[in-house]
Amino acid sequence: MIRVLKFGGTSVGSAENMRKVAQIVKREGAKITVLSAMSGTTDALVRIVKLAEETSSADQIEEVLAMLTDKYTTCIENLLNDHKTAALERMNEAFSIIRQEVAHFQEYTSERMIIARGELLTSAIFTYYLQELGMNAKLIYAPGFMHTDQEAKVNTQLLREKLTSLIQGDSDTYYITQGFICSNEREEIDNLGRGGSDYSAALMGAAIGAGEVQIWTDIDGMHNNDPRFVENTYPIRHMSFDEAAELAYFGAKILHPATIQPCKDMDIPVLLKNTMDPDAPGTTISHEEDTQRDFHAVAAKDGITVIRIYSTRMLMAYGFLRKVFEIFEEYKTPIDMITTSEVAVSLTIDSDCHLEQIVQELQTLGTIEIERNNTIVCIVGHMDHSQTGLAARIMESVSNVPIRMISYGASHRSIAMLVETKYKKEILQSINDRLFSRC
Ligand code: ADP
Ligand code: ASP
Ligand code: MG
Repeated sequence: MIRVLKFGGTSVGSAENMRKVAQIVKREGAKITVLSAMSGTTDALVRIVKLAEETSSADQIEEVLAMLTDKYTTCIENLLNDHKTAALERMNEAFSIIRQEVAHFQEYTSERMIIARGELLTSAIFTYYLQELGMNAKLIYAPGFMHTDQEAKVNTQLLREKLTSLIQGDSDTYYITQGFICSNEREEIDNLGRGGSDYSAALMGAAIGAGEVQIWTDIDGMHNNDPRFVENTYPIRHMSFDEAAELAYFGAKILHPATIQPCKDMDIPVLLKNTMDPDAPGTTISHEEDTQRDFHAVAAKDGITVIRIYSTRMLMAYGFLRKVFEIFEEYKTPIDMITTSEVAVSLTIDSDCHLEQIVQELQTLGTIEIERNNTIVCIVGHMDHSQTGLAARIMESVSNVPIRMISYGASHRSIAMLVETKYKKEILQSINDRLFSRC
């Protein structure tokens, strides 16, 4: 079976972990291995970009670079033998590119050039290591086959053509590449957004018709609730593409929100596995649905803004919602939740980029109210709406927290509720305690 494996920042975060990754790559016979940057690198590079924008902070930039030099040198020294010098040269090269970009900082292009160094360096070090193990490992350059257009959408056809021809060598070659980075319509280096390596792997898996895409991280699969905020979460062994996509979209950080679609389209199972415990079963995501349980998992997405439109013109009228939606379409702003009454519409967005213009246009339709700092809590499962008491069970589980909006009945798969972000931890824990049981 052709497998694409992706390893996140913690998985490649030290020499010790890279050794674990190499064993997994070998064991699974990974055709393509997609790597993120060593943990903490992208955050550090983003910090350098911010400092470069402030111009007067050369010392602080050098401090961050010294931290990165230390981190990468330690990894190289502990991991490599024959290729140590070559890897250290690569590292120095990467950091001198960063210094050059800082010195001639150009908005957007320099930022992308700097941020790409983490994945490029990490994948080079790892490839050297596999070669030292005697494996036939080849480093391939993701921006050479992962191209985006003006709308930042990946050109999947070009990806298929280029990647398939690139990997047509010996069947025992292990191809190593970078997640997250790509080239844009101007042929400049760019990226797919934070956490985008998962998406890179899914796209590559779909492009080469893989039998499986494996996402290796630091936890044993998708948990029923966010383990960063909630006690007593547990891994889910199996979930459907749709459930996983919904959870990822609504904040389950383990997966980039766009990851599932390419695999769903090609019916490629996605496995979520733990690098620190490779034999743990993890989660398998496939087209199979579990219709036995009402509630399967919950996730939360922050940074939500509510827009309320009051208008008596809505009374008994038609065409009002179309006008509202057109405004959001014009500013390419997706709507997450929506509820309506006879004289008001409330909807939520997760990007305030065009909020001012949107509000200005909406004011021609009615009176507008804005509420920031909200969180959408989304429960997924198989909810049979003909069942008595289902809604009551959900509401009972969140009775200790004020709920601002509810979206129930749109699909059998999920219910979404909106709360102020300050209540997020409380509501997630409450749902965990009252709605989920291990059996
Ligand atoms: P990587 O660097 O490997 O891509 P991420 O940090 O992006 O790893 O994703 C893994 C993290 O996602 C876990 O360590 C965990 O804290 C967090 N996470 C949030 N929600 C969930 C969930 N429902 N199930 C599992 N992990 C989750
Ligand atoms: N290194 C990138 C990030 O930290 C991409 C990824 O980890 O998926 O966002
Ligand atoms: Mg991630």
